[in-house]
Amino acid sequence: MRLLKNHGSASARGESPLKKDMLENPTLDLHPAGWRFDHSYKRLPEIFYSEANPVAVREPGLAIFNDALARTLGLDADRLDSSEGAAIFAGNAIPDGASPIAQAYAGHQFGHFTMLGDGRAILLGEHLAPDGCRFDIQLKGSGRTPFSRRGDGRATLGPMLREYIISEAMHALGIPTTRSLAVATTGEGVIRETELPGAVLTRVAASHIRVGTFEFAAARGGLEELRALAEHTRLRHFPETADAENPALALLEGVIELQSALIAQWVLVGFIHGVMNTDNMALSGETIDYGPCAFMDVYDPTTVFSSIDRQGRYAYGNQAAIAQWNLTRLAESLLPLLNPDESHAVELAQEALAKFSVRFEFHWLEGMKKKIGLFTNESGDVELIKSLLEWMQRTRADYTNALRDLDPQCVPTNADADFCEWHAQWLSRLSLQPQSLVEAKKLMQRHNPAIIPRNHKVEEALDAAVERGDYAPLKRLLAAISKPYDETTANADFRLPRPVGASEYRTFCGT
Ligand code: AMP
Ligand code: MG
Repeated sequence: MRLLKNHGSASARGESPLKKDMLENPTLDLHPAGWRFDHSYKRLPEIFYSEANPVAVREPGLAIFNDALARTLGLDADRLDSSEGAAIFAGNAIPDGASPIAQAYAGHQFGHFTMLGDGRAILLGEHLAPDGCRFDIQLKGSGRTPFSRRGDGRATLGPMLREYIISEAMHALGIPTTRSLAVATTGEGVIRETELPGAVLTRVAASHIRVGTFEFAAARGGLEELRALAEHTRLRHFPETADAENPALALLEGVIELQSALIAQWVLVGFIHGVMNTDNMALSGETIDYGPCAFMDVYDPTTVFSSIDRQGRYAYGNQAAIAQWNLTRLAESLLPLLNPDESHAVELAQEALAKFSVRFEFHWLEGMKKKIGLFTNESGDVELIKSLLEWMQRTRADYTNALRDLDPQCVPTNADADFCEWHAQWLSRLSLQPQSLVEAKKLMQRHNPAIIPRNHKVEEALDAAVERGDYAPLKRLLAAISKPYDETTANADFRLPRPVGASEYRTFCGT
């Protein structure tokens, strides 16, 4: 382990399927605490990164540590849940074998193209887990880098704990996501509108390669650099395409499929990412860059929580269209690799992109059918689902609870006429399948979560932790969201909808 010197106030200075690793993989030493670093990304051309260390902080502490995740990664959890771990997760000590860099990328932010890069993050390297899976280990909020522009490179405690909560909730819901290994405190203030406590999040990801990384390659690199990135990404995330005839097309099609499935899963659980800029969309198909994200309570496709999304570009119901827009930027970046003849390349790209909405609708319908207990296919299924959603919107029903409470054997006594009519249609649809109502109900219970990280519960937990240093509510919340399909008396308060009369929820950018 290498120790970095703290140069005073840095703020002032501003479950994935097992995939065979296709990347060059030299024999690695196993280091204390179980780190096993490799650096396949660093074997890319130099334009894609800058070597940079985290900036040491005044007083490293561990706010929260993900014991279970550490163990799956093959790390020595007991050893890391300590001052040694705090030093690593705050960026004051570099674990043996790490080779820190800041990654270069670009991106369309709210539709406008900009050169970006890790302005407040450092990739320590790729850790190889005992099952052979490769994970980026990234420190977020770790100080200035060559890409920081006017930013201070820092993050604050509330938003980093928030990312920890929401990413772990997504994981428990079975949705592909980056994970959170630890949040370290820095003992330093960070100047925002007021001074806030600084923190560093350790993020674990299949990779941090973004649509924006390809936009960067297309804008800044030559054909060889673009090809190197495309091949690296393809072999890393789509090893099954090893022998593809048209490798760039295989990559594009692979990403389109993963993203269509991912966005469908978001929509099925009522998740709103909030800032789907192209730099916040990962080619691995994981949810990444949790900023002003939140779960919808009342069903309404126009729902926006982010204070900066004034036009509703990233509203709940817009997410599939925006994903397709982002993937179009990816396809554009890949054009020179798809075919040397530009018009033929454009044709290939358009054909691939056209599949997105078909695949999204497919994944969404499959998910919704399970949510209402359907095992089979009938022609009116989409209409049946849509009329339930319309009813929810009209009556301002809580999306999660309305679905969880559906019961084929029971119409609520206080239900309105529209709902009773829908319920009767639903029962006649259920009678067309061989499975019993009990089986249907069981299917529904496996696909309708009882527990989501409800906004008021998340705020309550963050307030206690950040304002009072009381982590008990946060730990209770984490325990509840880790078993989203369990309904117990102990977790009853996590299932209650937003209190009546509470003001509209607003989220702010993760900075
Ligand atoms: P995000 O909104 O977190 O997706 O970040 C968008 C871009 O702004 C990325 O290039 C970040 O690295 C950069 N950025 C965000 N916050 C800061 C900060 N405090 N200091 C430097 N760069 C930042
Ligand atoms: Mg980002």
